[in-house]
Amino acid sequence: MSENRLRHLPAIDQLLRRAGLQSLIAAAGRDLVRDRLREVLAELRQELLSANGAATLPADTKTDAETDGEALAREIETRVQQRFLRRQQSQTQRVINATGVVLHTNLGRAPLSPAALTAITDIASGYCNLEYDLTTGQRGKRGTGLEQMWRELLGCEAAAVVNNCAAAVFLTLNTLAEGGEVIVSRGELIEIGGSFRIPDVIAKSGARLREVGTTNRTRLSDYEQAINEHTRVILRAHPSNYRITGFTEKPSLAELAALAKARQIPLFEDLGSGCLVNLQPLGIHDEPTVQESLAAGCSVVAFSGDKLLGGPQAGIILGQAELIKRIKTNPLMRALRVDKLAYAALEATVAAYASGRALTDIPTQAALHASQESLTQRARAFVRRARKLNTQLQFTLRDDASVIGGGTTPETKLPTTLICLASVHWTADQLETKLRQNSPPVIARIVEDQLAFDLRTVSPANEAELLSALQRLSAS
Ligand SMILES: *Cc1c(COP(=O)(O)O)cnc(C)c1O
Repeated sequence: MSENRLRHLPAIDQLLRRAGLQSLIAAAGRDLVRDRLREVLAELRQELLSANGAATLPADTKTDAETDGEALAREIETRVQQRFLRRQQSQTQRVINATGVVLHTNLGRAPLSPAALTAITDIASGYCNLEYDLTTGQRGKRGTGLEQMWRELLGCEAAAVVNNCAAAVFLTLNTLAEGGEVIVSRGELIEIGGSFRIPDVIAKSGARLREVGTTNRTRLSDYEQAINEHTRVILRAHPSNYRITGFTEKPSLAELAALAKARQIPLFEDLGSGCLVNLQPLGIHDEPTVQESLAAGCSVVAFSGDKLLGGPQAGIILGQAELIKRIKTNPLMRALRVDKLAYAALEATVAAYASGRALTDIPTQAALHASQESLTQRARAFVRRARKLNTQLQFTLRDDASVIGGGTTPETKLPTTLICLASVHWTADQLETKLRQNSPPVIARIVEDQLAFDLRTVSPANEAELLSALQRLSAS
């Protein structure tokens, strides 16, 4: 039946003459409009051929071919216009993270501090001294200012910055170990997710992996016995979101550093998160700080800019001047370096740590340090406001835990208070989908068949938007 309608579909040339498409043709050009028309025509052909597609098409009114052709042409015109509109909107959108996962890799990890945003706007809106020395008026080196900040903050000798921690690990191993061996404990041959696997990174860096010990136990003597004339680096990798518990053993970083020093081999630690703050008061006991690793005697450490540090995506490499110099002069450095925006945001982020304002000014740190008491108060106030909106939703509070994410201490949970939503009209899954389609999209959790918001990751400034999303939901 629908196959007959196929014959009513207008031809491209005919569609291109339609008055409704002339302004689009003038703006985007005839070729682009023709391309979109082809796509939409193909889509409609498919829909006419498949039974279920008929529902999305103008109904077959069984009128004459001309009238049906006009109805289909109008539909095509609308869809082409919508396609152009959709392409004008940016595809990467701001979302409200109501999951409580502080470092949510799928949601862009660390939000930046207001100071970092100001720095980005300032630097990006004009020219800057990225590679220009304002004292001499000569060409300068990228990252000199940030390197100085790291030295003052952590007492390290030198610093380099690349695109992310994966790049930092790769570049460090390629510089220090290409053609030689890298010693790693079998308990640290991990995959971090997103295809970052320690053995693969070592292989790609041009070095050979020398595994020592066993999955659960590796002794200092295992490292010692593996050292030979080909050894270039001893690698210690943070196990990230993986834990070995029970009958375990590994040498302390200081012991490993002493061995490395005695044998004149660099000890390189892939820290992953790059925490500068002691998180023990939060009950997090297995997240080493960058300061501890440097103090233990690591020659080089690498960590992410956008995990616990709370800055932009970057990979930070700190350590001995001689080694960092070799890393910086590796020809791959040019391919992995970061732009002026990353420097602007990193400098502002490091400045917050230097001035002791990190726990309040860095959103990631503020979210981690939010007490359950303060979250309960916010949740109560939110529910009071939500109830006034007559959303026909039921709200209850519930004690639960937030997850840190980003590979940080998978076992530690931060106590929180969830706002649970229930509806007589919709299931939790339906609520979740509707909120995800809000503008801005709201990403929430489902806990025991209830939709839940965790305000830990929602800034107070975004609570009004969250309330509007609920209001829109009940109006739909
Ligand atoms: C997260 C992580 C990485 C990768 O960091 P990116 O900045 O995402 O590239 C590398 N190593 C460890 C141990 C990690 O936890």
